[in-house]
Amino acid sequence: MVSLPGVGIKDYASVFARERREPLPALVCPCPACRGALLRGHGGYERYVESGLMWLRRGICPICKVTHAILPDDLCAYRDATLNAVEAAVAPGLATPVVAARAAGEPAPESARRVRRWLAGFDAAFVQRLVGLLPAVPGTWFERARRLVGSAPGVLVRLRAWLWTTYGVFFGGPTGLWRHGRPRDRFRGHSTDHGSRAGPGGGSSPSGHEWG
Ligand SMILES: [Zn+2]
Repeated sequence: MVSLPGVGIKDYASVFARERREPLPALVCPCPACRGALLRGHGGYERYVESGLMWLRRGICPICKVTHAILPDDLCAYRDATLNAVEAAVAPGLATPVVAARAAGEPAPESARRVRRWLAGFDAAFVQRLVGLLPAVPGTWFERARRLVGSAPGVLVRLRAWLWTTYGVFFGGPTGLWRHGRPRDRFRGHSTDHGSRAGPGGGSSPSGHEWG
């Protein structure tokens, strides 16, 4: 699992289109043992994004042979949700999932359920792991993130970039953290896009919460 810095959902199709199979931009395999090997194009797959199917490119490392889904930088892993929508929902001061859903611009009535699922993703174990990667300043994980990357909208997108460049940990949003962009090996095979064809809302997505 990697993302393309500076390329969000809106611009993704202008970089990658299913019918074009141009070489990938320079994306390094996140595995330290591969010492900066560049990913090669390795097809793609469809998943639901904002209620429509979106084609996502996939890369493969020529050395470790791990394939990586290449996400837009503002898309959650394994969720049909943008990091900005999640951010609006997790921002402090939103009392209930219904209020949070409204803030996230999610349409009713399934919105509260979706938002509740996102919020459930930020459980105690996940937050503890996340906070362990952030500078030790007082506050909730979100407040710490804000202090680290600035409080303007886009906190989670910037947090993803920071975690990646600082630790090589991919922040998937409510679905977890992946060290070196990889799920734990209990996930079958060597692909990072299992569950990607889950329907809108996520379905049976694997959790990346546990890693190490
Ligand atoms: Zn590799």
